[in-house]
Amino acid sequence: MSKHPATTFEERPPSIHIGTPADAQSSETPPPNPTGPAIPDSDRYSRQILFPGIGATGQHLLASAHVAIIGVGATGAATASLLARAGVGTLTLIDRDFVEPSNLQRQILFDEADARESLPKAEAARRKIALFNSAVSVHAHIADLVPANIHELLAPAHLILDATDNFETRYLLNDYCVQQSKPWIYAAAIGAYAATMNILPLPEEQAHEPAPYPPTACLACIFPKPPTGPVETCDTAGILSTAVNLAASIQTTEALKLLTNQPNLMRRTLISHNLWSNEQSEITTAKPNPACTVCGQRIFTHLAGVGRPHITLCGRNSVQIHEHHRPVDFTAMRNRLAPHADIHDLRFNELLLRFKRGPHTFTLFPDGRALIQGTTDITLARSLYARFIGS
Ligand SMILES: [Zn+2]
Repeated sequence: MSKHPATTFEERPPSIHIGTPADAQSSETPPPNPTGPAIPDSDRYSRQILFPGIGATGQHLLASAHVAIIGVGATGAATASLLARAGVGTLTLIDRDFVEPSNLQRQILFDEADARESLPKAEAARRKIALFNSAVSVHAHIADLVPANIHELLAPAHLILDATDNFETRYLLNDYCVQQSKPWIYAAAIGAYAATMNILPLPEEQAHEPAPYPPTACLACIFPKPPTGPVETCDTAGILSTAVNLAASIQTTEALKLLTNQPNLMRRTLISHNLWSNEQSEITTAKPNPACTVCGQRIFTHLAGVGRPHITLCGRNSVQIHEHHRPVDFTAMRNRLAPHADIHDLRFNELLLRFKRGPHTFTLFPDGRALIQGTTDITLARSLYARFIGS
């Protein structure tokens, strides 16, 4: 499998990079913040430093921390906002999707202009964070997290937060984190239900150094296989904004404990709340399962990319095609598509190209990934992709 670079938006320098550094096209982005005197950290973080669990030492540790957030939908936007406001120095945001009107009910980093422009979520989040904490360095990747790019995208992060809407990515993340001995935090929200769990894999050098914490169960210890059959999504079950924010709030608090070197305070259970029925449950994750194929036997099938299907996205009647990892020249693509009489509303910018044909809306990203809205038929979507974008 060939490695492919993600489209990357770097906070510094303030330019857009598309493709690999060698063939990068750059264009100016708006300045991240209006000019003005910088806000002193002693002012900005004064109330958090007063909290004994953080203090001045903890605040300093947060500034040097790097957290990756996978998915910048409802949970990821809340988590990114909370961590950036708390002063986590560097954030990597990874999301494959763009802002839509139906997101505004719960995705707290986005506004109506983002939805009108169909701005990619990772980039919209980066711009919004720059408005309230310009000191945070944000690396925004408009990409699908896949086995081919996971090492490149996640290597610099100390901690990884799951804010995805699918188990395929979570099992991939679990494989990667167990293999690399990186902590990650699972979070999920659907309907009025929120659940989260800390995964602290066995540190790599445990044979030589005392472990900073005893390992917990991994995702596969608790759920050996991803769920089969239809899984409820935001599309079928709906979602309350409050459930999302509860999951994000617990997840972020656990992250703050780890980042301030207090892993002993982290919860070692899978906790779930139903905010509507007031039901709660908690199951222990205190110890790894010795029979676990991932953390016990160290077999990483998801990381090897075994059986990766196409994905039907949460919250929308659409199929994502992500098997064609190759850069796309939007100008050439526009020139090729424009003569088709049945293609409408063709427009593009440096972030995406979009057009409509019949009941389908095509959204194409610079790395060749496409979202085809208006169908859940994978065969049809693949055929449309081959016909209009290229096989
Ligand atoms: Zn395990």
